[in-house]
Amino acid sequence: TEEALRHAQKMEAIGQLTGGIAHDFNNLLMGISGSIELLRRRIAAGKYDETQRFMDAAVASANRAAALTHRLLAFARRQPLDTRSVDVNHLVRDMEDLLRRSLNEQIELRISLAPDLWATLTDANQLENALLNLAINARDAMPDGGLLSISTRNEELDRPVRHGSEEIEAGSYTVIRVADTGVGMPPEVVSKVFEPFFTTKPIGQGTGLGLSMIYGFVKQSRGHVRIESAPGEGTAVVIYLPRSDEEPLAGREAAVERPSVAS
Ligand code: ADP
Repeated sequence: TEEALRHAQKMEAIGQLTGGIAHDFNNLLMGISGSIELLRRRIAAGKYDETQRFMDAAVASANRAAALTHRLLAFARRQPLDTRSVDVNHLVRDMEDLLRRSLNEQIELRISLAPDLWATLTDANQLENALLNLAINARDAMPDGGLLSISTRNEELDRPVRHGSEEIEAGSYTVIRVADTGVGMPPEVVSKVFEPFFTTKPIGQGTGLGLSMIYGFVKQSRGHVRIESAPGEGTAVVIYLPRSDEEPLAGREAAVERPSVAS
């Protein structure tokens, strides 16, 4: 049956990811034991000149391994959404300093907020995490600097719209667009970015969980997310969240009741 097929495909995907994680983790462990072994030989030979370097390398590998498991645990422990009526403009404004600090001096941050933005039904904590993750991805995509723009707008769709594999249902949405002028992605990368553990970054630097977590949270909010990207032309991540008819809680105030999940 179709159900059985989907299950088999899912199991295959899980097998691939755990294999990938085990591989990354193993490489980090090899780095640690290799450094310690070199350290041991130096000390045995009474040569202390390079010991500091080997110790630093071991500690750096251990820290990367810890960061990897930390993110895995945060991913596994995902909490159910705490959905409320949120004022996204307020939330973005409250995050401006944090976002700026997560970038670097060569990257300009430009924020443009629609004046009469609809309130949206979502989890403010998760949305904050998502925006922070997107800013960090944008920073990584702009090693020589560039522009990160975050903008909001209302969008009313009277019929479904298809963007690649993503079908955006008809409805009223609060749209958040996060666009960078970075390296961009070829289509074969774009088609994989929402898969858990898909990353093009070196071991220890990327977990491949950022965009898959964003995808999961947006879907749980009954929203949609799409990517516009091409090599050399930058990347835009566009998040559609359903409009809420209720009065919003003031931006971040909706988020302070629960500590945000570490990412
Ligand atoms: P990670 O950042 O840990 O690799 P993500 O799920 O956030 O995990 O991203 C997956 C991959 O998608 C990245 O490794 C990168 O190849 C690509 N990517 C994500 N955001 C961008 C961006 N803004 N510009 C270019 N490539 C990106």
